[in-house]
Amino acid sequence: MPKLVSHPDEVKIISRRFGQGATNIDRYLELGGYEAVKKCMAQGPDWIINEMKASNLRGRGGAGFSTGMKWSFVPKQSAKPKYVLVNGDESEPATCKDHLIFLHDPHAIIEGTIIAGLAIGAKMGFIYLRGEYRYLLEIMERAVADAYERGFLGKNIFGSGNEFEVITQSGAGAYEVGEESALMESLEGKRGVPRIKPPFPAVVGLYGGPTVINNAETIATVPHIIAMGAEAYSAVGTPRNGGTRLFGLSGHVERPGVYELPMGYNLKKMIYEVGGGVRGGRKLKAVVPGGSSTPVLLPEEIDVGMDFDQVGKIGSMLGSGGVVVIDDQTCIVEFALRTITFYQHESCGWCIPCREGTDWLKKSLTRFHAGFGVASDIDNIQYLAENMLGRTFCPLGDAAAMPTAAFVKKFRKEFEDHLDGKPCPFAKHVEMAVV
Ligand code: SF4
Repeated sequence: MPKLVSHPDEVKIISRRFGQGATNIDRYLELGGYEAVKKCMAQGPDWIINEMKASNLRGRGGAGFSTGMKWSFVPKQSAKPKYVLVNGDESEPATCKDHLIFLHDPHAIIEGTIIAGLAIGAKMGFIYLRGEYRYLLEIMERAVADAYERGFLGKNIFGSGNEFEVITQSGAGAYEVGEESALMESLEGKRGVPRIKPPFPAVVGLYGGPTVINNAETIATVPHIIAMGAEAYSAVGTPRNGGTRLFGLSGHVERPGVYELPMGYNLKKMIYEVGGGVRGGRKLKAVVPGGSSTPVLLPEEIDVGMDFDQVGKIGSMLGSGGVVVIDDQTCIVEFALRTITFYQHESCGWCIPCREGTDWLKKSLTRFHAGFGVASDIDNIQYLAENMLGRTFCPLGDAAAMPTAAFVKKFRKEFEDHLDGKPCPFAKHVEMAVV
């Protein structure tokens, strides 16, 4: 079980019940649980959506879209049933934040799902967990069963006359299913490949009905926003980036862990003060700021606020909030190879630029890292990666291409150092950062 970490700069909103025994429904109630949903039932759908918009909560899965806006796109009237879908298919390397919510605060996910259902007029929600998180499914299923037993789920929730059902589902271990339309396909019992968009899920989603899909952290944040008020929540972050975020700090850092910090928290401070600096006092070489798909940053670029807009301005992405610290003993060519190996393995193979592109990149980087590369390979790798961008059916192609292009662009010299049959200059340092 991952150890809980803490730091005085943390603002504990989402994580405030971690380690407090809140998997037990009575304890969750003692800690103020299920009060937010009651407030929402009294206020109604428009109020809920307006609160979400005012909170400036942006999707924590990686895309960073406004949650309130997303909910408002669902048509009020629909001939087909509407659904809420919780995306807990957390598979981006270096990301393990949803995991902690499932482990410590499953009722927050249930409560957030009910509130989303009230907002859009859905009577059913699905909570989809990553296949490798099957051991967390038991915790989630216990929480759902307890909520049914207390009458918080079912035909007449909280005696209000409203119906809301929740079904939990485990995936089969495919990164691709984290893409929302592939997740819907998987849930419908089909192969987990993406759908053509439009139509978007808010209009034609699960089983053809209007569907809201939110990341597990996003959904778990909702009851806290309702409890503390949208204005207070928004004030914690930066303009257009409300609240806090669970940042996963990993790699060559003294104190790795998941820390809840305000949106906009300085990345340099996160590494050196919260994380205690680079492990063993070594020099920082690079930082991956938001999960393995986000372009790498150089040490001189890390004096940046960690919100969607500020990280975007310097050419990278906040992504899933998984920060990987890379020290000066790490071979960037090998790091790039490990990254592309993951995406090549996870490509669903449906569209050519991704299926062939990830395979070519993996083969080129393997040969290159083994010392059999030629000078033109460097440009070819970058050319290939850049030509995948925006040409694939779903974001996995970009997720593979973006980091590769950035590694070559920012560490060209290191690629050149592998040329002419030279052994990898870092071969003696076998330990790698987490990818
Ligand atoms: Fe499949 Fe990759 Fe195409 Fe996405 S981009 S549909 S994962 S082949």
